[in-house]
Amino acid sequence: MSTPDWQGKRVTVAGLGVSGIPAAKVLHGLGAVVTVVNDGDDERSRTQAAELEAQGITVRLGDGATLPEGTELIVTAPGWQPDKPLFLAAAAAGVEIWGDVELAWRLRGPDAAPWLAVTGTNGKTTTVRMLASILEAAGLRTAAVGNIGVSLLDAVAGDETYDVLAVELSSYQLHWAPSLRAHSAVVLNLAPDHIDWHGSMEAYAADKGRVYEGNSVACVYNVADKATEDLVREADVEEGCRAIGFTLGSPGPSQLGVVEGLLVDRAFVDNRQEQAQELAEVADVNPPAPHNIANALAAAALARAYGVPAAAVRDGLRAFRPDPHRIEKVADIDSVAWIDDSKATNTHAAEASLASYDPIVWIAGGLAKGATFDELVEKSAKRLRGVVLVGADRALIREALARHAPEVPVVDLDRTDTGAMSAAVREAAQLARPGDTVLLAPACASMDMFANYNKRGEAFADAVRALAAERA
Ligand code: ADP
Repeated sequence: MSTPDWQGKRVTVAGLGVSGIPAAKVLHGLGAVVTVVNDGDDERSRTQAAELEAQGITVRLGDGATLPEGTELIVTAPGWQPDKPLFLAAAAAGVEIWGDVELAWRLRGPDAAPWLAVTGTNGKTTTVRMLASILEAAGLRTAAVGNIGVSLLDAVAGDETYDVLAVELSSYQLHWAPSLRAHSAVVLNLAPDHIDWHGSMEAYAADKGRVYEGNSVACVYNVADKATEDLVREADVEEGCRAIGFTLGSPGPSQLGVVEGLLVDRAFVDNRQEQAQELAEVADVNPPAPHNIANALAAAALARAYGVPAAAVRDGLRAFRPDPHRIEKVADIDSVAWIDDSKATNTHAAEASLASYDPIVWIAGGLAKGATFDELVEKSAKRLRGVVLVGADRALIREALARHAPEVPVVDLDRTDTGAMSAAVREAAQLARPGDTVLLAPACASMDMFANYNKRGEAFADAVRALAAERA
């Protein structure tokens, strides 16, 4: 893909924010004539706008709908929905639309670091961080970038030099990145999420599947999730690129999997029909919950595709520390484990964490985002000692429990205030018996009660620590 000549090019950047501000600055630095458009016109955007305007960038606040005159290219924030009037106007005028990832991809120099890309409904951040840790253990200059809050533009246009990048990509980013060609990529899993944005499950899956387009070495898929393998089959890849599966079972040829407590590689070995290479012990995965072992195998597959030795996989996994609020142990109180998985913001994620413990006192509820809970409750019913419900859409979970787990005691707190979490912890303590796990895995977004899932997890952890202090 040739890099356009940016001098004097009229570029509209859609959205002030984590991707828009760096994009506007980089494009301005390249000589483009940049106009930023933004729906909001609040205090914060005004401060940001003033900073950009001081550098010679035009900013229009409170109008993200009108296409500025003469626009030759739009660079959009990934979250902007494709059916926005701005984009319809652009399509009518024949103006191309790129996301922040597309821009970063096009701005890479000829010797730029290749990208190892990770997407999927759940587990992206964990897998990308594991991957970066493995690449680092191999002595490579690398960074975990993309949807995890570190701008790809900074990685591509900044001063730092990298050998290889571990890139997290959301479905939105992939939607707006038509020419991206990763070295290797994985779709970890596919479950309904963000369907309102994409329009349908098919459109969501197709956008995720873009991550495999043009891969040169490996398309990594989840053996347990056929939809990911189907996406590999549909992708147009470079000659010689291989399909590599990961599985929690014993691996077949061209797969990574688990044998007798070991993570093993039957893909990147000389004779995959007969050989398997030990990579690490299951106990090296932190924490060794089933879905997290799957994440570790996916990270290992990408690292091995890049040529990393087995010992670096082990060292990297050992060095990895999970981000907060992802099945994080807060305390053991009277032989009950208290686990914070506030990041389980959808049913697919909550299902994975509920599958990791038994018996469980489950704290759930929040904003359902259109989800249904029957399948989740049905699959987890046998493990439930009891359930404590909070948040706006708790009735949906309560009804699913009544249908599929009528014998499980349920405490419905009927509260959506911030203090409800501390009450939920007290109720959970009443239900739990020694040997149980109390698990905050809400299966819902947090914004009905908290600013974000971090704050929800902190409220839980604070309440648990207060309980521990009382019992000490
Ligand atoms: P993402 O970046 O995709 O949101 P994270 O790594 O932040 O993923 O994990 C989010 C939540 O998803 C975790 O708290 C856990 O509940 C769940 N999760 C993590 N890995 C998986 C997986 N492989 N399959 C299903 N759920 C998972």
